[in-house]
Amino acid sequence: MTIFEKIAAGQISVRMIHETAELIAFHDGNPQAPVHALIVPRRVIARIGEATPGDAELLGKLLLAAPEVARLLGVAESGYRVVINNGRDAGETVPHLHVHLLGGRSLQWPPG
Ligand code: 5GP
Repeated sequence: MTIFEKIAAGQISVRMIHETAELIAFHDGNPQAPVHALIVPRRVIARIGEATPGDAELLGKLLLAAPEVARLLGVAESGYRVVINNGRDAGETVPHLHVHLLGGRSLQWPPG
């Protein structure tokens, strides 16, 4: 099981924000901004580079969850960034697709 499957199964406790039949959203344990949430599909796709056309509906729901989570966390108006890390150079550490939602401060561009 990936660590995110364990979180979805309730085996590791997190600060949960939102749950649906297909997705969970929770606060990142090592936040990089005042608001740093992770949105994770319950079904494992290792990374965006391994998604297939059959995953299109789930990927749509994953992205559409971002503005909903942003609203729940109070950053919908101030702004937020949605990030997916894919592979070593991007700093991916958990091989279970997830969207980072970052906000609550002015974010730099380009990212480091
Ligand atoms: P990645 O680097 O793969 O894009 O992001 C993985 C993220 O998962 C990191 O930001 C890391 O802090 C977060 N993370 C890893 N393990 C846990 C955990 O057990 N609990 C929580 N809340 N976040 C975790």
